[in-house]
Amino acid sequence: MWRSAAAVRALRGGGAGAPRAASGAAAAQLRQRLENELEDIRGAGTWKSERVIASRQGPHLRLAGGGGGIINFCANNYLGLSSHPEVIRAAVEALEKFGAGLSSVRFICGTQSIHKDLEEKIARFHQREDAILYASCFDANAGIFEALLTPEDAVLSDELNHASIIDGIRLCKANKYRYKHMDMQDLEAKLQEAQKHRLRLVATDGAFSMDGDIAPLREICQLAQKYDALVFIDECHATGFLGPNGRGTDELLGVMDKVTIINSTLGKALGGAAGGYTTGPKPLIDLLRQRSRPYLFSNSLPPAVVGCASKALDLLMESNAIAQSMAAKTQRFRSKMTAAGFTISGKDHPICPVMLGDARLASVMAEDMLNRGIYVIGFSYPVVPKGKARIRVQISAVHSDEDIDRCVDAFTEVGRKHGAL
Ligand code: PLP
Repeated sequence: MWRSAAAVRALRGGGAGAPRAASGAAAAQLRQRLENELEDIRGAGTWKSERVIASRQGPHLRLAGGGGGIINFCANNYLGLSSHPEVIRAAVEALEKFGAGLSSVRFICGTQSIHKDLEEKIARFHQREDAILYASCFDANAGIFEALLTPEDAVLSDELNHASIIDGIRLCKANKYRYKHMDMQDLEAKLQEAQKHRLRLVATDGAFSMDGDIAPLREICQLAQKYDALVFIDECHATGFLGPNGRGTDELLGVMDKVTIINSTLGKALGGAAGGYTTGPKPLIDLLRQRSRPYLFSNSLPPAVVGCASKALDLLMESNAIAQSMAAKTQRFRSKMTAAGFTISGKDHPICPVMLGDARLASVMAEDMLNRGIYVIGFSYPVVPKGKARIRVQISAVHSDEDIDRCVDAFTEVGRKHGAL
C-alpha cells in the first residue's frame, strides 16, 4: 500500500496502528536481503514508481498533490469508456441490484444472471460459440494452456508474447516451442518439428503492446492450416477497436473463421474496470469451467464490473463511431509526429511508441513532457530490448484534436532541447 512519508513517520512513531516488525534472525536476514534487492533495482535505473491520480481515468487528469490539466497519453483507455456516463450508470445499477460481490467462486454460489448475460454477449461480439469470464486476462492466460494441453501436445509461442501468456505456458506440460517475433520462416520450422505431437497450438498476441505492431495473422493461419495447428490470440490491445467493427485483429485481417481461441480483457478498451475472458468452441469453454484453476479457485467478477463491461459492449455493438474516432486521432498523431522527424513504431495502432534508443533520453524526455502537462511514460531495458528505449504514447477516442496537437508540440520542443531531433 502506498503511504506518504508523513504517514510512515507517524506510523513509526508508534500508536495503535503502528506496523509491527517481525523479530528474529530469519526476519532480519530477509529484510536485509529485500533491501539489497531493492537497492539493486534502484541502482539499475529500473525502479518503477507510481504516480497517484486524484481524478477519474480520462484524457485529462489531476495528480495527487499537483494541479489538474494533465493530458493523459498512457492509459489503455482506447475508446474513452472508462469514465463514460452510461458505463458508470450501468455499474451503479448493477451494484444496487446485484450487490457488492458474490463472496464465492462461480461454481459454488457465484453465478448471477448478469455473468451469464455478459458471457453470451462476449461470444456474440466475437462471433464465437461461448465465452467464460475470469477476474483478469492474466488469469485467462494462466488457465487456458494447462487445462487444454497435455504432454502429448505442443504450444508454439511468439518470443515477445505478453508475460501472462509466457506464465500460462510455463504452467502447462505441453512441449514448448518459441518462435522469433512475427518470423513466419521460424514458425514454419517449429511447426515442422512439432508434427510429432498430437495437437499444435500457435499462441500470439494479436497486437503487441510495446511496439504497437500487429501479428501477421493471415500468414499464421495459413501455416496453421498447412501444419494442422490451432491458433490462439490474446486480443487485449485489439478488442473493441481493431477491424471495421472493432472485433479485433482477426476481423482486421479477415481470419475470424480461422482463429480458434481468443483471450481478452475487460480492463482496457471495454470500460477499463477489470476482468478477462476466453471465447471459442463450446466444448473448450465447458472444459475450462471444469478444469481451469484461476476460474475454479477465484472469486466471481463483482456485479459493478460486469455492468461496466456489458454496457461497453452494448455501445460498441450499436455503432463503430467511437472506434473510428480513435482511428482518426491515431492517424493525426502518427502523421504529425513523423512529419516532425520522430520515428513511430508500428502501424495504424493507437499504441504509438516514439523510438529514442537511449534509456536516459527516454526517461528525461518523459519527465520534461510531464513538466509541460503531457503524461507519457518512458520504457527501457528490461521491459524492451537494450538500445530500444522509447516513450509510449497511447491515443484515445476521447482525446481532442487540440490534445493531440499539444502533445506533438511538446514532443517537438522537448525533442529539440534534448537533441532527439
Ligand atoms: N495480455 C496482454 C497482451 C496485456 O497487455 C495484458 C495487460 O497488460 C494482459 C494480457 C493482462 O490483462 P489483465 O489486465 O486483464 O489481467
